[in-house]
Amino acid sequence: MVALTYFVILSVSRGILQKTIRDSLITAVENNVDEVEYYSSLYSDAAANDIDYYVRYGDGYIEIDDDFLDTVNDVYTSLCQADGTLIYGENPIALDTEELDFQDSVVQRVRVDGTLYYVFDRQLTLDGLEGFWLRGVVSEEQGETELSAISRTSLILQPILVLIAVIGGWLIAGRVLAPIRQISETAAQIRQGDDLKKRIELSDGSDELHQLASQFNEMFSRLEDSFQAQQQFVSDASHELRTPVTVIRAQCDLTLEEEEAGPEEYREALEVIRRQSKKMSRLISDMLDFARLELQPERYQKEELHLSALVEDVCSDMALIREKNITLTCEAEANLRMRGNRELLTRLLTNLISNAYRYGKTDGHIWVRLRSEPDHSFVLSVQDDGIGIAPEERSNIFRRFYQTDPSRSGKGNGLGLAMVKEIAEFHGGEIRVQSEPGTGSTFEFFLL
Ligand code: ADP
Repeated sequence: MVALTYFVILSVSRGILQKTIRDSLITAVENNVDEVEYYSSLYSDAAANDIDYYVRYGDGYIEIDDDFLDTVNDVYTSLCQADGTLIYGENPIALDTEELDFQDSVVQRVRVDGTLYYVFDRQLTLDGLEGFWLRGVVSEEQGETELSAISRTSLILQPILVLIAVIGGWLIAGRVLAPIRQISETAAQIRQGDDLKKRIELSDGSDELHQLASQFNEMFSRLEDSFQAQQQFVSDASHELRTPVTVIRAQCDLTLEEEEAGPEEYREALEVIRRQSKKMSRLISDMLDFARLELQPERYQKEELHLSALVEDVCSDMALIREKNITLTCEAEANLRMRGNRELLTRLLTNLISNAYRYGKTDGHIWVRLRSEPDHSFVLSVQDDGIGIAPEERSNIFRRFYQTDPSRSGKGNGLGLAMVKEIAEFHGGEIRVQSEPGTGSTFEFFLL
């Protein structure tokens, strides 16, 4: 680029200089044209003007005015006869260009001793001057000084500009690349050390790279959260599975070690083992359902289903429980339809109603309601007048394996509400809870 710019500057300057030289050649010659006159005789006042130059010619005189400039701006002008005889003025290449024909108002180029000259001829036309020519000559070298000054200046300036561009580019690139380097270093540290807590620390700023870095940080936070949730799930699951296994082993040891154990003791031991294995199998099946919903959601196909009928069916089945003499009332708006998975929606409602029984009070009530909203969404709610949930517990109850009071939850394993939340999200909905300790709880499933 630098070389190209250099050559462009030089060739453009050369073009301009040549044009300037030719123009000044033409101007100089043209200005001299009017300074040459012919007089058939000399008047006294003309003769008195001794500044002008007179040449005797034929019967009269050629007057060369004192304004005639034979050298101006390195342009030499000479007055010649048609055969080339020099009458007045200067022509540095007269001898070398004797053969050069006169051509009126034409710029000719001629090379003498390796130097290029421009020659401009002008035929004089005034009375008595026919056959006379003015010849202007200028050497191309006249522009060389300017040209070499331009070339020298650009030779000095261009490297300085290149240096400035390189240093500036290096500084800017350094500033631009620093955050990227930091992003990649943090990513590498996370990869090497498996430390998801690391974050990209950048100075304040709001440009694209800062946005990228904060997106990365957000992504790391989400990865950390889900990684932690996964680890928590595994550790909770192992813990939950270990309890029934420990009980089964202890029961076996106890019964086998008891020397006088009769059929009654064996039956009791088998009952305990059956209960614990049922718990385990329920837990395993719930965990498998989670895994399926998370990893293979495509296994749960959505179909157009009659939501009102589904709600009524589940309610009429669950109303048979009549645990703690609780009454279940169903108020489902008729003919509501939606796209969803029958099995999962049944599970959602069953879990909510089971909880309402489990945490309901004796002789209490459960209200299951389904209504449509003006914005085409549905709300499915399960309300009870049971023990309620303390405000500080409300954000935790949807976590897997979370139980406020395991002794109360009976057959529950703390996965019920987590599953409800998962199913709600699978259907693009959300689940909300309102509760007052001692008064009851309402779980609402909002669905678009
Ligand atoms: P669990 O198997 O313990 O019932 P869930 O995930 O279904 O697990 O519920 C988590 C916790 O939320 C429960 O331990 C209970 O404390 C609370 N909870 C759920 N539903 C109700 C409800 N209807 N009334 C009061 N507390 C509830």
